[in-house]
Amino acid sequence: MKYFNWSLNLALLATLGLAQVMTAPKAVASLFQQTELNQEDVIAIASPIGTTRHQLLILEQIGSQRECWAEQGDSVTPLLVDFDFTGICGRATDSNGYSIRVGNEDLGLQYTLRLAAENGTLRLLASSDKDRTAPPIEVGRATQRAGEFVSITLNPGWRITKRSYNGQELGHYYLSNDQSLTALQPEPEEPRNVLSVRPAPSSTPIPLTPGSSVTLPTIPVSGTPSPVRPSTPSVPSRAGYNYRVTVPATTVRVQNQIRELVPDAFRTLLNGQMVMQVGLFSNRQTAVNLQNQLRRDNFVASIQEVPESATPRPSTTANTRPSTPVSRRVIVLDPGHGGRDPGAVGRNNLYEKTVVNDITRKVADLLESQGMQVVLTRNQDSTLDLEPRVQIAERNNADLFVSIHANAISLSRPEVNGAETYFYSSASGRQLAGYIQRNLVATGMRDRGVREARFYVIRRTSMPSALVEVGFVTGAQDAPRLANASFRTELAEAIADGILNYVRAN
Ligand code: ZN
Repeated sequence: MKYFNWSLNLALLATLGLAQVMTAPKAVASLFQQTELNQEDVIAIASPIGTTRHQLLILEQIGSQRECWAEQGDSVTPLLVDFDFTGICGRATDSNGYSIRVGNEDLGLQYTLRLAAENGTLRLLASSDKDRTAPPIEVGRATQRAGEFVSITLNPGWRITKRSYNGQELGHYYLSNDQSLTALQPEPEEPRNVLSVRPAPSSTPIPLTPGSSVTLPTIPVSGTPSPVRPSTPSVPSRAGYNYRVTVPATTVRVQNQIRELVPDAFRTLLNGQMVMQVGLFSNRQTAVNLQNQLRRDNFVASIQEVPESATPRPSTTANTRPSTPVSRRVIVLDPGHGGRDPGAVGRNNLYEKTVVNDITRKVADLLESQGMQVVLTRNQDSTLDLEPRVQIAERNNADLFVSIHANAISLSRPEVNGAETYFYSSASGRQLAGYIQRNLVATGMRDRGVREARFYVIRRTSMPSALVEVGFVTGAQDAPRLANASFRTELAEAIADGILNYVRAN
């Protein structure tokens, strides 16, 4: 629990010397850091001023004694006005209390946040104070309702963090985006999602080696037994070496038996032989323990000493896997949005999350009816970060990963319609995307092509992966189709067929 210490922060600000800070914007950029907040504990609100206008209000739940606000749909009731909220709620009502932070740079003295009304929508905009002619950066949107408190949905890539100094959290909130300022500058000719959905670079690298992923908390998957837990290591290891535990992967049956014991295990080549890599450890004793457990289960487990730099990554197996029956394929499907993240909002308030959740579930049913093993990154309408989606795919040793989205551009561009499918760098990803796109276009969707992009979930997953944009929720042609349940079934069939085409061809 975080308690806000006013006296300490005031002292800090005094030490910093506000006058000096005010005249030296460059200094601010390096002076302050940010601390991450659980996005469930903080909310951006359009707060009414008078009867027609709104301004940004940020509330944070700091202590748990009292609720700071209540939400019903996008309607918000601030509750903190009814009690002394010191130490319980954080609140920021103006530019002294909040600013934007872009590309890890504090732009508090260069950009101003405001809410602009436009055709019934409130856009949260950051405008440059230096260059009044520069187009503002859109941070989020809310529905405009005169005299009411309405929650603001932040655009993809944006989150709320707190300013900190020397590790000490201050009372100032950031609307923060990890992308560079240049990348966020609006380019009206590009579809909105190309700019805003592009995932932010992660500050913490994802552990991709199977050895390190063994220590991560287990993501529960029905029917998957608990992984083998190596006991505490006691034998010292040679620095710079890893200890790889492998079992010859002679048959699919052996491979599946290994996966039942260690869901993280994956197939790879070792001296030309196909093996299951069951673990990779920096400590030799941990590897020995795992080897002994496997031997008790009658597996011919061996240990190889490998220099750290020569450690194979799961991605090396993507193109070397032997043909596996459809029924053994594990596919991870990722509904692109859910929970507090509605994704794009289109015509007639059509939410991207509504569209993609329905389609994803239908794709899952269709693939399961073909005997494939399907894992969803989320089972209900819940919020999910990008990194855990990748981990779910890796931990389930997925053969394929498909993320499902709907596209959006400004509501003033209804003529933009069509499906597009993305891959990242690999030939297998391109092939998968190609099959899906071909089937989508066969439903009558306009063909916007197979494209390469650096979306986080397809860039960080090691297996062949694709990201589908089924159509535009803002499109005059697409929106009614996407709102129609039977057309969504057609789109789901197209995606499932594309996946099956790929599986049968490989
Ligand atoms: Zn999306």
